Amino acid sequence: MSTDCGRTFDEVLLTGYLDGVLTQADDQRVRLHLEECADCRRLMDEMRETREATMTTRFELPADDQWNEAPRGLASRLSYGLGWILLSIWAVGMLGLLVGHLWSDAMPLTEKLLLFGGLSGAALLFLSVLIDRLETMRNDPYRKVEK
Ligand SMILES: [Zn+2]
Repeated sequence: MSTDCGRTFDEVLLTGYLDGVLTQADDQRVRLHLEECADCRRLMDEMRETREATMTTRFELPADDQWNEAPRGLASRLSYGLGWILLSIWAVGMLGLLVGHLWSDAMPLTEKLLLFGGLSGAALLFLSVLIDRLETMRNDPYRKVEK
């Protein structure tokens, strides 16, 4: 991919331009360059076609030039989800250990209630963050591929 056309921005900006997620300044920078650079216009056209092909063939086999991107995205998503699951298990295990240690002592009822309340609150907060993360992972329509 030739970058000696005078383009002063990263290819990622072209993707962002397609998605319409750029700031006004960046958007203008890309548009001005596209007006005077046939290479980048062609690159842009290819990106748009790839994008449209991806959308219309969602449940079919990806085009040949999609193969190097799709599995990588899937793998990173899987490890992201797995990471959160492991972290949850770890957090629950640590809480269990903590409660087990404290509970074995002759602990007054009020302190038990306080401990239980605090842990429940923390667990709920963690759970909400976890759900939020998983939702974001599933619904994120703008998956930017870092190079
Ligand atoms: Zn260019």
